[in-house]
Amino acid sequence: MSTTIAQTSLTAAAEKYEPVIGLEVHVQLNTATKIFCGCSTRFGAPANSQTCPVCLGLPGALPVLNREAVVKAVRASLALNCQINERSVFARKNYFYPDLPKGYQISQYDKPIAEHGWLEVDAKNGGTHKIGITRLHMEEDAGKNMHEGFADSHQFSYVDLNRAGVPLVEIVSEPDMRSPEEAYEYLTRLKEIMLYLGVSDCNMEEGSLRCDANVSVRLRGAEKFGTKAEIKNLNSFRYLQRALEYEIERQIGVLESGGRVVQETRLFNVSEGKTFPMRSKEQAHDYRYFPEPDLAPLIVSSAWRDELAATLPELPRQKRNRLMNEYGLTAYDADVLTVSQELADYFEAAAKGSKNPKAVANWIMGDLTAHMKATNTTLADTKVRPNQIAELAALIDEGAISGKMAKDVFAKMAESGEPPRSLVASMGLQQVSDPAALEKIIDEIMAANPKQLEQYRGGKTPLFAFFVGQVMKATKGQANPALVNDLLKAKLG
Ligand SMILES: [Zn+2]
Repeated sequence: MSTTIAQTSLTAAAEKYEPVIGLEVHVQLNTATKIFCGCSTRFGAPANSQTCPVCLGLPGALPVLNREAVVKAVRASLALNCQINERSVFARKNYFYPDLPKGYQISQYDKPIAEHGWLEVDAKNGGTHKIGITRLHMEEDAGKNMHEGFADSHQFSYVDLNRAGVPLVEIVSEPDMRSPEEAYEYLTRLKEIMLYLGVSDCNMEEGSLRCDANVSVRLRGAEKFGTKAEIKNLNSFRYLQRALEYEIERQIGVLESGGRVVQETRLFNVSEGKTFPMRSKEQAHDYRYFPEPDLAPLIVSSAWRDELAATLPELPRQKRNRLMNEYGLTAYDADVLTVSQELADYFEAAAKGSKNPKAVANWIMGDLTAHMKATNTTLADTKVRPNQIAELAALIDEGAISGKMAKDVFAKMAESGEPPRSLVASMGLQQVSDPAALEKIIDEIMAANPKQLEQYRGGKTPLFAFFVGQVMKATKGQANPALVNDLLKAKLG
């Protein structure tokens, strides 16, 4: 009883408050080598096998900036509508931790490579909402401490420096999001753009996409932001949403009971579904940033920037809008079909040669997707070619086969890769659409069922279905149903 009352009053309280959310997203760039040395970035290699004096931080070793990392950072910035700073500066972020052999991380501080961008997300009430992007800066990743899995793990920790020096971009949003769903949507769209650009694999399990969230609550209508907490360790989209939901409720609870939200860093504990304080801001590090003396300022000329801008692909949102306009797709269908560039390309290859793009979309989202899921295959290795989907849709529209038969044809086609037209012939599925042949069958049926004919003509119209059934039986279900209807109506009178 008391829980019900407590929950009700909290829901009422929740209505009074508005969450304010900003995200800091680390995206690992998929360059072949690290940002300041020639070591491989391949995931899963034996520990410390991909290291050299530079990324081990040995005295006298000097960093050399990887041009490809800059190219990818600029393309990511442009896709996020950022202004590229012609001159940006690398800085040392000093802190001590065993996974950071140099004792500092090379990052960018007051002069990042890009600023003042935005990313559009779908708004709850329809339309779109622009989420501001404060900045995008380049930096190197740290190594990885390992506290488990060794015989002497109770005594020692180990460190793997393969990841030290892998290139990252950190994308900092403005505090423009107003709900956990919107934060989820922002991260989804951000990931989608990075995948379309091909600058990262965005694999969360391997740490290629990492996210921290800043969240506060304020009374609806208030101008001033509340005190924020930073939540770390959000290594899945679902955890991000769950952690935000929990944290918003917690902060409202604190305020409603007359308390004060403390500015602090909190960790999301997955098994408990709760956030816990990690360290308070009072004890936060002073990173003693200063410009990296071993690297010259990074110059991105406007000519180079324009050259890179010309390499941007059609981005997901533009593609969605175009598919809706060109092929008459619904927003939902366009959304599903642009979830990856490969799927969108596949759809377009099929739809281009089809008079019925909507049917093509349905086959791809329905039977093809289900088949790939069931057989654990991808678009790259499915035997069904886009033109075959278009052909299958055409066979139905021509009246050659029924929708039900088409399902059987699809199953065979997915198995063998044979084109649908020849499958229809070899499976003996050709629909009977010849009026003369059907009329002959109908005449025979009428002659064999005089009693039913008399009753029908006497007003017992539901017997129409009986005659349809007889025709279907005689043709083993292969008669064109629409044609059977028309012919029967005419013959029965
Ligand atoms: Zn190295």
